[in-house]
Amino acid sequence: MAFTKLAQDRPRILVVGGGYVGFTVANKIQKAIKETGGVVTVVDPNPYMTYQPFLPEVAAGSMEGRNATVSLRQHLRDSEIVGGRVTKIDHANRTATVEPIDNGQPFELTYDEIVIGAGAVTRAFPIPGLSEVAIGMKTVEEAVSVRNWVLERIEVASLLEDEDARRRALTFVVVGGGFAGIETISELEDMARAAVNRNSRLRTSDIRFIMIEAAPRIMPEVPADRAEKVVAELRARGIEVLLNTSLADATDGHLQLINMGDKSPAGEVDTDTLIWTAGVAASPMLKNTDLPLDERGRLRVGADLRVTGDDGVIEGAWGAGDNAAVPDLSGGGVGGFCVPNAQHASRQAVQLAKNLLANRRGEALGDYYHETIGVVAGLGLWKGVANFKGKTIGGPLAWLMHRGYHGTAIPTTERTVRVMATWALNQIFGRDTSSIRHQRSPRLAFQEATGTAPEKTKAHL
Ligand SMILES: Cc1cc2nc3c(=O)[nH]c(=O)nc-3n(C[C@H](O)[C@H](O)[C@H](O)COP(=O)(O)OP(=O)(O)OC[C@H]3O[C@@H](n4cnc5c(N)ncnc54)[C@H](O)[C@@H]3O)c2cc1C
Repeated sequence: MAFTKLAQDRPRILVVGGGYVGFTVANKIQKAIKETGGVVTVVDPNPYMTYQPFLPEVAAGSMEGRNATVSLRQHLRDSEIVGGRVTKIDHANRTATVEPIDNGQPFELTYDEIVIGAGAVTRAFPIPGLSEVAIGMKTVEEAVSVRNWVLERIEVASLLEDEDARRRALTFVVVGGGFAGIETISELEDMARAAVNRNSRLRTSDIRFIMIEAAPRIMPEVPADRAEKVVAELRARGIEVLLNTSLADATDGHLQLINMGDKSPAGEVDTDTLIWTAGVAASPMLKNTDLPLDERGRLRVGADLRVTGDDGVIEGAWGAGDNAAVPDLSGGGVGGFCVPNAQHASRQAVQLAKNLLANRRGEALGDYYHETIGVVAGLGLWKGVANFKGKTIGGPLAWLMHRGYHGTAIPTTERTVRVMATWALNQIFGRDTSSIRHQRSPRLAFQEATGTAPEKTKAHL
């Protein structure tokens, strides 16, 4: 096969990010652009799109990590894929700077039009110790690590004589009671319970799960009464839900909690496992562009998804998804803008692709309009919550809706089949609760064989 360099001679549509927005837009426009002699170039450090709603299930071992991803090269065959990170956009000169993965030499890519779908990053606060001990839930790597870590802690604890050390190993804390946090803690509790049931040295009452939420309620996406029911269900499962509570200090895993109102102490907890899901912020890369941003650092776009500044539309620049402030014409958004979720990102991407092609043909553009049909969340096997067309549903039906929706919403039939097959096999054989122990240090076995293994240090997540 001939070696092909990056296209230099063809008009380029540069797609920044291969997530929901980038993958969907490239998929929809790649053939049409190729037929007109152009090229669609997708730049993403990962060679796959991550289906983030599946991450809590990956962390809980209900799904394998790879099944929550969709390969860019396998499914975007008419696009040019670049493994790198866009670090700067000089739209006035239609040039983006790309840093290849593994810190290669940065290079510049020129383009005709740019689609910006770089998504969001975990938003953390300057809490002492947080960055040293906590982990997010935004990537497959994080979810896979959490699965192995939680299972390993359970195994370790089952041999610990020291009561304090044992309690610490079996205490799992999640900060942030949005969808991601609630799904994460409930799925993990479900897995931990299954793992403990297989270990005769432990009882389920030994494990402790704590949810910390600064607001007076969880899951702002569902009605308050349903959210209260979810809290009651979680508490009935033994999960401690601390509302109006914030994390003040996490040094060495010794958590100091405070009440949100008067900042008075709200308890102390020792843990080896701290998972942070308390919000996201638009990609910081946007600050390194000459494009207009709002006060929250999001790309300013019109309802037709063209980037729009104070002086009107900026030709050749498009944006959607978590990194853009997209007007919510249905009136259901926060501050007039769509909330950052997959339901919006995937649909905005479809409208963006249509508009981009229409614009090139000189046709009229359409506005993005979507009334939220509802939300579904899995809370562990056979447990869920759904809010569909104003009706709230719980229990096994909501869980089946969650699986039915996400199993078919993940892009490509190939992934749907893999996901469904894994679920079916897990139903038959049960989930695998053994930890792949040295996933974090795969060279350890070789180092031990060669006598160069580092001295034992306490493992961190
Ligand atoms: C745990 C979890 C559970 C969720 N559950 C749900 C749910 O149930 N329902 C729902 O609607 N939403 C859910 N969401 C939210 C949803 O996943 C996001 O809203 C959605 O992924 C946004 O799509 P996006 O294309 O804007 O960004 P992403 O899908 O995040 O894609 C951004 C892409 O850009 C790449 N990128 C980042 N920076 C650069 C750069 N500088 N250069 C090049 N590429 C870059 C990233 O690698 C990534 O591939 C969940 C999120 C999480 C974390």
